[in-house]
Amino acid sequence: MYSVVLENISHVYPDGTEGLKNINLNIKSGDFVFLLGRSGSGKSTLLNLLTKEFNPTKGKIYFGQEDITTMEKKRIPFYRRKIGIIKEDTMLLENKTIYDNIKIALLATEKINSNTDYNIMSALGVVGMRKKWDSFPSELSKGERSRVALARAIINNPCVIVADEPTAGLDNDASWDIMNLFDEINRRKVTIIMATHEKDLVTIMKKRVVTLYNGSLLGDVKNGRYGDLI
Ligand code: ADP
Ligand code: MG
Repeated sequence: MYSVVLENISHVYPDGTEGLKNINLNIKSGDFVFLLGRSGSGKSTLLNLLTKEFNPTKGKIYFGQEDITTMEKKRIPFYRRKIGIIKEDTMLLENKTIYDNIKIALLATEKINSNTDYNIMSALGVVGMRKKWDSFPSELSKGERSRVALARAIINNPCVIVADEPTAGLDNDASWDIMNLFDEINRRKVTIIMATHEKDLVTIMKKRVVTLYNGSLLGDVKNGRYGDLI
């Protein structure tokens, strides 16, 4: 399967802001990694590099054997099929039903066939949202919207899920539900790379924790033991 390796990654935004400074990171297939850090520490920058929103100003990123920083533009959609992406804003289309919101993610990868209906309902089942298949996003709670975003991220059977603060704005119970869903998906050997600033959740989950501070890598520990680093 696919490991994700960052080699000497630095990113400077066009206005001169240093988003990341010389990051080295090796994420094995099946890992569950939290990117922990305060607002502005570089978490989203790192995830956006992984999803190829833009390229780093320096360094290489390997997805499996391939250096994605030199990937041809036309191959990017194919690359993105292998990763499930969850952004801070769930980005659901408000005028489409939950079912159609997920179907669109499938359409993006031309995978519509006789199993489509079954697959969409299974993904909704994984996140406990089958009953809401014909609801509209505005009819859902924040926690339910996050669940749908997760269903959409897993619909193409990705081997890596990249999630940027998926519990932002959720109350404690809803955050836990989402975390447990990620854990369940991770048990199916899907790599999870999740940015968060919620230290309490990270402590209890006992996963690998990569700590960012001002764009630098401050720590990389197992079992949630990041201590007093930030
Ligand atoms: P986090 O996700 O941890 O809050 P970001 O990766 O968004 O942090 O930001 C890291 C740094 O890069 C911050 O100083 C932020 O202001 C800066 N930054 C982020 N996006 C841009 C951008 N598009 N242009 C300029 N600076 C940016
Ligand atoms: Mg961010």
